[in-house]
Amino acid sequence: MSGKVYLVGAGPGDYKLITLKGLECIKKADVILYDRLINPKLLKYAKDNVETIYVGKAPNAHAYNQEEISQLILEKALEGNVVTRLKGGDPFVFGRGGEEALLLIENNVEFEIVPGITSAISVPAYAGIPVTHRNVSSSFHVITGHEDPLKKHSSLDYKALGSLTGTLIFLMGVKNIESISNNLIKYGQNPERPVAVIRRGTTSEQRILTGTLENIAKKVEEHSLKNPAIIIVGEVVDLAESLRWFDKKPLFGKRVLVTRTRTQASKLSEKIEELGGESIEFPTIEIIENDDFTDIDRAIGQIEKYKWVIFTSVNGVKYFFERMKKLSFDIRLLKNAKFCAIGPATANELNDKGFVVDCIPEEYVAESIVKELKDKIDAGDNVLLPRADIARSSLEEGLKDLGANVDNIDIYKTVIPKHESKELIEILKERKIDIITFTSSSTAKNFYEILGESNKDLLKNITLASIGPITSKSADDLGMKINIEAKEFTIDGLVEGIVKYF
Ligand code: SAH
Repeated sequence: MSGKVYLVGAGPGDYKLITLKGLECIKKADVILYDRLINPKLLKYAKDNVETIYVGKAPNAHAYNQEEISQLILEKALEGNVVTRLKGGDPFVFGRGGEEALLLIENNVEFEIVPGITSAISVPAYAGIPVTHRNVSSSFHVITGHEDPLKKHSSLDYKALGSLTGTLIFLMGVKNIESISNNLIKYGQNPERPVAVIRRGTTSEQRILTGTLENIAKKVEEHSLKNPAIIIVGEVVDLAESLRWFDKKPLFGKRVLVTRTRTQASKLSEKIEELGGESIEFPTIEIIENDDFTDIDRAIGQIEKYKWVIFTSVNGVKYFFERMKKLSFDIRLLKNAKFCAIGPATANELNDKGFVVDCIPEEYVAESIVKELKDKIDAGDNVLLPRADIARSSLEEGLKDLGANVDNIDIYKTVIPKHESKELIEILKERKIDIITFTSSSTAKNFYEILGESNKDLLKNITLASIGPITSKSADDLGMKINIEAKEFTIDGLVEGIVKYF
């Protein structure tokens, strides 16, 4: 039985500008075909065993032509797959979606069209240009600018275009901007009509160039502005002066490397994106359960003896309670224990499980916990410390100095993910990283190990941001100079530090 094909508009670049239906199609696809304008972040939502095929133009890869792409879609569908064909913007706006659909019909393959947000409207919107505006423009016209300028007779009806008073939007036209603007003037458009050229709209690389029909071609050349860009002609362009919003965001244009674990990265990434930055996730740490349960099981077996349980990370909470559950230990057994959490995120994790946290230190570092518990711990008290295998020993020692019996248990392990330094180097260079964030000592140490001493020079022009003094010291010890250190040692604090710095 043949599968099914979804021709999906993936939006103009900002990966959140896909529809719910489009996202569903990514999630259920066996095969995804995508091209150059698709934000690779969207592919993260796909199934683990999905087959992804890049069909865009690439310098060193085979470039598929339209016929081959249509055939490939058909072939994959006939094999019985759910095929999602992702297209930039909307599939039916200069997207050749119609051609792909026709071939499917000929071959009796089921398909659906999932419209997308076209760049024609959304790219101006992110630049603060409404395509229509009361008393300014009462229509908009979307036109291809992709024509051989040497062609004797344009297939565009410039006579008609010359007389339009609405907003003119040209896609794929930057290369031909000179002939487009000349023709528009020749056929009656005011040479002083405002024009904007917007490149890579809705992304952190968005660039806006404004001028008039008369001078825009020269400006585009001067600034060597290239595709993908749209040209927008009309009085609405002037509104951008007041309506500009996207590129005013505090982190607009900044590319931030996030080195936290895959599962923890999203919170930081989201904050960066909200502020207009682009987050690139490259986890330098991975967390796995400790496979030796002897110690933790012994501690849980006598859980009622502990006066304090101290959690120094969200993961500590997570793995501790997972193990309790595995062993069928009821959490009511914890009723005598007081809980200390190193910071608000860890406290939240405990709150979510229904616990009230008895103590959060003033500063979110291990040393501060000892200070805080000084008057709360008596000699001989039993204290449980479920934490990572790489945790520093100062907390345990400090508690012992207070006279506590400390059971320090490696409840989870941290490992360096299998990365090649090549991969990291490529990201630093190709994606032009502006900022690298370190949210723990190990993210910094592992980053350095993956990068390799000999490539240290690559960090020269990159701003390094750290969540707190311990992390900064680990980086500094390796010769990575920290430029930004969070005032409050949390993700929010880190982001705030970055915003202030810029
Ligand atoms: N189907 C797409 C258009 C495909 S044609 C849509 O609906 O948006 C490709 C052209 O779209 C590019 O040459 C450029 O003119 C425009 N385009 C697409 N994404 C863009 C972006 N993020 N910024 C500026 N122009 C973009």
